Amino acid sequence: MSDDSFKIGSAKWYSPASGSVTDEGDNTFSVVAPTDQTSEPNQLLTDGFSRRLTYLRLSITDFCNFRCEYCLPNGYQGKRPDDELSVPEIATLIRGFAKVGTKKVRITGGEPSIRRDVVEIIETIKQTDGIETVAMTSNGYKLGKHLASWHAAGLDQLNISMDSFDAATFHKMTGFNTLPQLLTDMDRLLEKTNIKLKINSILMAETAFENLLQAIDYVKDRAVTYRFIEFMQTSDNSDLFFAQHAQSDTIIDYLLEHGWQAHDRGSSDGPAVEYSHPDYVGRIGMIAPYAEHFCETCNRLRVSSQGKVHLCLFDQGNYDIRHYLQQDDVTGLVSTLHSFMPIKPEHHHLHDSDSGIMHNLSIIGG
Ligand code: SAM
Ligand code: SF4
Repeated sequence: MSDDSFKIGSAKWYSPASGSVTDEGDNTFSVVAPTDQTSEPNQLLTDGFSRRLTYLRLSITDFCNFRCEYCLPNGYQGKRPDDELSVPEIATLIRGFAKVGTKKVRITGGEPSIRRDVVEIIETIKQTDGIETVAMTSNGYKLGKHLASWHAAGLDQLNISMDSFDAATFHKMTGFNTLPQLLTDMDRLLEKTNIKLKINSILMAETAFENLLQAIDYVKDRAVTYRFIEFMQTSDNSDLFFAQHAQSDTIIDYLLEHGWQAHDRGSSDGPAVEYSHPDYVGRIGMIAPYAEHFCETCNRLRVSSQGKVHLCLFDQGNYDIRHYLQQDDVTGLVSTLHSFMPIKPEHHHLHDSDSGIMHNLSIIGG
């Protein structure tokens, strides 16, 4: 171990060789990559486990108006930060990521639609050479109002978080009585646009089976994938997690017994396994982070709304790359992204109830 190695959390060491790492406190590390980087500057990002990283999840704000009980049960605490990445900083970021092989960018949050310049952000990403797909994850608040402008800006995919088909339950879970409007807006999206729509729903023991039956009914004639996401433990939701966490097996068993068939995951498909049925237009999907081998196909990096790279959703620290964005330094950014490759963790440690620095997922967007 060389003297300039840097210990992060309890498990990892970062050796920047001739570059430097500065501890800024709060588990954030400022990184300056070595200038004599041996890798080709435009080489594609491949981590130490031969995983090709072609997908960026970019949070554009921590702030959220909803208070989903598994994420921000008491709502967003404090004042919304006033130092979110600007559009020019995002433009530099995306140019850097595109240079190292990123093909797909997902805009997330907090609630991304809160930002008044979200249309400009979609356009900026969409117009970057090399980026093929711009996606967004949203709670769908006032989707109807935004739909036309998001579509015109070039949004390709939209994931809407919708944890219940029952209006009262939705209201209780989010603090907003907007389910009927959301359902209407999603139907309008399907009718008027070619945006690919997916619905995300947290798999909760109490509601899973009822949701499954309603979801099957919902996708009968709609080209929508309804995906269950296994409830992940963070430091803010442990009580609810232990009361409601359920694994995906019972849902999968039901689907297979009723004629649904699993599809092989393509290299750019992400972690969901999707199930289809000849009598149904849409699909049911399952994202099972607690399943064995889940992380083996990880293809992503995450960047926070303050310009910090998270190498894993549940890592012990993050890396501040904002100075490259402020200086429009794509070359420095590319070099630094390469320098992260040996230290991207192989997998998370959720099975040990270790969610790293992630208090709740609104910090980085899941
Ligand atoms: N506000 C947007 C939304 O809700 O779609 C984007 C941010 S939200 C953090 C992104 C996704 O993370 C949502 O689909 C949400 O359901 C999911 N999520 C939040 N907390 C979670 C948890 N503890 N376990 C699993 N998924 C979670
Ligand atoms: Fe907000 Fe999304 Fe978290 Fe719900 S899941 S509180 S909508 S960030």
